[in-house]
Amino acid sequence: MKQNLTIALSKGRILKDTLPLLEAANIIPAEDIFSSRKLIFDTNHENIKLVVIRATDVPTYVEHGGADMGVAGKDVLLEYGAKGLYEPLDLDIAKCKLMVAGLKDAAPVEGRMKVATKFVNVTKEYYAREGRQVDIIKLYGAMELAPIMGMADRIVDIVDTGNTLRANGLEPMDHIGYISSRLVVGKAAMKMKHRQIQPIIDMLSEAVEARKTPSEND
Ligand code: AMP
Repeated sequence: MKQNLTIALSKGRILKDTLPLLEAANIIPAEDIFSSRKLIFDTNHENIKLVVIRATDVPTYVEHGGADMGVAGKDVLLEYGAKGLYEPLDLDIAKCKLMVAGLKDAAPVEGRMKVATKFVNVTKEYYAREGRQVDIIKLYGAMELAPIMGMADRIVDIVDTGNTLRANGLEPMDHIGYISSRLVVGKAAMKMKHRQIQPIIDMLSEAVEARKTPSEND
């Protein structure tokens, strides 16, 4: 008999790219996720449910068995630093960069620098690797505002087109890493439900390859 399987999806911009991949793997929500306020959704499989939650909560749910697998941005996974998760597949969606940015033409900062970010752990590790002492200011959003208001010298944030930075008089300075969304699987779930999970990983992997442009597949 098939066991129940729960997949945690990050709501927001990742979701609209995730659903076509799931559909290609023949996992289709029973109703329109975007027009519903529900948190749990049935699918075309009696035993598979989707939960739609904040991106930052996905690794927590998967690590603690609230969901068996999930889709989360690499930025969220790096910040969470999960040990109880496998990351079997790069879904190649919601691609962006994690960058250091500052006010356009800002002078280099001598001595201790103030860095505003919501990625506190990633930022600490980055500057530790650089051998640079920084004071980190934790924010939950609109990091771009901090240098403008004179509260921070730099920000660490996600950059896609760079339009948000430019619109606020900032510019990208250092590149910390490439980000995309990943499939994550709980270690316990991988052991207990491997026969159900592996075919889903395989189908998603095929869907990811099929989406790539011919030149990317060369
Ligand atoms: P942009 O103006 O295109 O550089 O987008 C910048 C803003 O969009 C960032 O401040 C992020 O909050 C958000 N963003 C862009 N790409 C992503 C992504 N792949 N995942 C999550 N947030 C993103």
